[in-house]
Amino acid sequence: MLAACSPKPEPASPVSSPAEPVAVPPAPLPMPDATPTPTPAAPTVLVPVSEKDALAVALGYVEDASRADKTKFKTYAPGSQCSNCALYLGKVGDATGPCPLFTGKKVMAKGWCGSWVKRA
Ligand code: SF4
Repeated sequence: MLAACSPKPEPASPVSSPAEPVAVPPAPLPMPDATPTPTPAAPTVLVPVSEKDALAVALGYVEDASRADKTKFKTYAPGSQCSNCALYLGKVGDATGPCPLFTGKKVMAKGWCGSWVKRA
Protein backbone atom coordinates (compact mmCIF):
# COMPACT_ATOMS: atom_id res chain seq x y z
CA MET A 1 0.00 0.00 0.00
CA LEU A 2 2.65 2.25 0.86
CA ALA A 3 4.27 1.53 -2.37
CA ALA A 4 1.28 2.82 -4.22
CA CYS A 5 1.70 6.18 -2.60
CA SER A 6 5.36 6.45 -3.13
CA PRO A 7 6.49 8.24 -6.20
CA LYS A 8 7.28 6.18 -9.13
CA PRO A 9 10.94 5.82 -9.63
CA GLU A 10 12.21 7.87 -12.49
CA PRO A 11 13.22 5.73 -15.37
CA ALA A 12 16.85 5.70 -15.79
CA SER A 13 17.71 8.37 -18.19
CA PRO A 14 19.67 7.19 -21.16
CA VAL A 15 23.28 8.02 -20.96
CA SER A 16 23.77 10.81 -23.34
CA SER A 17 27.17 11.35 -24.65
CA PRO A 18 28.29 14.23 -26.78
CA ALA A 19 28.14 13.49 -30.42
CA GLU A 20 31.47 12.13 -31.38
CA PRO A 21 32.53 11.90 -34.96
CA VAL A 22 32.25 8.43 -36.15
CA ALA A 23 35.33 7.29 -37.88
CA VAL A 24 34.34 6.28 -41.36
CA PRO A 25 36.92 4.28 -43.20
CA PRO A 26 37.95 5.99 -46.40
CA ALA A 27 36.49 4.66 -49.56
CA PRO A 28 38.93 2.44 -51.34
CA LEU A 29 40.73 4.20 -54.09
CA PRO A 30 40.19 2.80 -57.53
CA MET A 31 43.11 0.64 -58.39
CA PRO A 32 44.67 1.30 -61.75
CA ASP A 33 44.64 -1.61 -64.07
CA ALA A 34 47.90 -3.41 -64.27
CA THR A 35 47.63 -3.27 -68.02
CA PRO A 36 45.86 -0.10 -68.99
CA THR A 37 43.74 -0.38 -72.04
CA PRO A 38 45.35 1.69 -74.73
CA THR A 39 43.15 4.20 -76.36
CA PRO A 40 42.80 3.16 -79.95
CA ALA A 41 44.46 5.66 -82.16
CA ALA A 42 42.34 7.24 -84.75
CA PRO A 43 43.13 5.79 -88.10
CA THR A 44 45.29 8.04 -90.17
CA VAL A 45 43.41 9.12 -93.21
CA LEU A 46 45.62 10.05 -96.08
CA VAL A 47 44.28 12.51 -98.55
CA PRO A 48 45.22 12.28 -102.20
CA VAL A 49 47.94 14.57 -103.40
CA SER A 50 46.59 17.23 -105.67
CA GLU A 51 48.59 17.91 -108.78
CA LYS A 52 48.09 21.56 -107.88
CA ASP A 53 49.85 21.29 -104.53
CA ALA A 54 52.96 23.47 -104.55
CA LEU A 55 55.23 20.50 -103.86
CA ALA A 56 53.47 18.39 -106.47
CA VAL A 57 53.96 21.13 -109.05
CA ALA A 58 57.61 21.48 -108.10
CA LEU A 59 58.18 17.74 -108.43
CA GLY A 60 56.09 17.41 -111.56
CA TYR A 61 53.73 14.97 -109.86
CA VAL A 62 50.94 13.70 -112.04
CA GLU A 63 48.26 11.19 -111.15
CA ASP A 64 48.90 9.32 -114.38
CA ALA A 65 52.51 8.73 -115.36
CA SER A 66 51.58 8.95 -119.03
CA ARG A 67 51.03 12.66 -118.50
CA ALA A 68 54.48 13.26 -117.02
CA ASP A 69 56.17 16.32 -118.47
CA LYS A 70 58.88 14.48 -120.33
CA THR A 71 60.30 17.73 -121.66
CA LYS A 72 60.83 19.24 -118.24
CA PHE A 73 61.74 15.98 -116.53
CA LYS A 74 64.30 14.28 -118.71
CA THR A 75 64.69 11.55 -116.12
CA TYR A 76 61.31 10.11 -116.98
CA ALA A 77 61.67 6.51 -118.02
CA PRO A 78 58.89 4.73 -119.86
CA GLY A 79 57.05 2.40 -117.52
CA SER A 80 58.11 4.28 -114.43
CA GLN A 81 55.35 5.12 -112.01
CA CYS A 82 54.81 5.42 -108.29
CA SER A 83 54.06 1.73 -107.80
CA ASN A 84 57.55 0.78 -108.98
CA CYS A 85 59.31 3.68 -107.28
CA ALA A 86 61.64 2.90 -104.40
CA LEU A 87 59.93 5.54 -102.29
CA TYR A 88 56.40 4.23 -102.76
CA LEU A 89 54.99 2.74 -99.56
CA GLY A 90 51.73 1.37 -100.92
CA LYS A 91 50.97 -2.31 -101.14
CA VAL A 92 51.13 -4.17 -104.39
CA GLY A 93 47.76 -3.89 -106.07
CA ASP A 94 46.59 -0.85 -104.16
CA ALA A 95 45.44 2.05 -106.29
CA THR A 96 47.09 4.54 -103.96
CA GLY A 97 49.77 4.58 -101.33
CA PRO A 98 51.82 6.83 -99.13
CA CYS A 99 54.95 8.52 -100.36
CA PRO A 100 57.35 10.05 -97.85
CA LEU A 101 57.72 13.12 -100.02
CA PHE A 102 54.08 13.98 -99.40
CA THR A 103 53.56 13.67 -95.67
CA GLY A 104 50.01 12.78 -94.70
CA LYS A 105 49.00 12.25 -98.27
CA LYS A 106 48.83 9.43 -100.76
CA VAL A 107 49.86 9.24 -104.35
CA MET A 108 48.34 7.28 -107.16
CA ALA A 109 50.04 3.96 -107.90
CA LYS A 110 49.93 5.02 -111.56
CA GLY A 111 51.30 8.45 -110.70
CA TRP A 112 54.75 9.78 -111.21
CA CYS A 113 57.01 12.59 -110.16
CA GLY A 114 60.48 13.83 -110.96
CA SER A 115 61.88 12.18 -107.83
CA TRP A 116 61.06 8.71 -109.08
CA VAL A 117 63.75 6.18 -108.18
CA LYS A 118 63.77 2.69 -109.59
CA ARG A 119 62.82 0.12 -107.00
CA ALA A 120 65.59 -2.43 -106.51
FE1 SF4 B 1 55.57 8.61 -106.80
FE2 SF4 B 1 58.09 7.99 -106.20
FE3 SF4 B 1 57.44 10.49 -106.83
FE4 SF4 B 1 56.66 9.48 -104.52
S1 SF4 B 1 58.79 9.85 -105.18
S2 SF4 B 1 55.41 10.64 -105.93
S3 SF4 B 1 56.27 7.35 -105.10
S4 SF4 B 1 57.33 8.70 -108.19
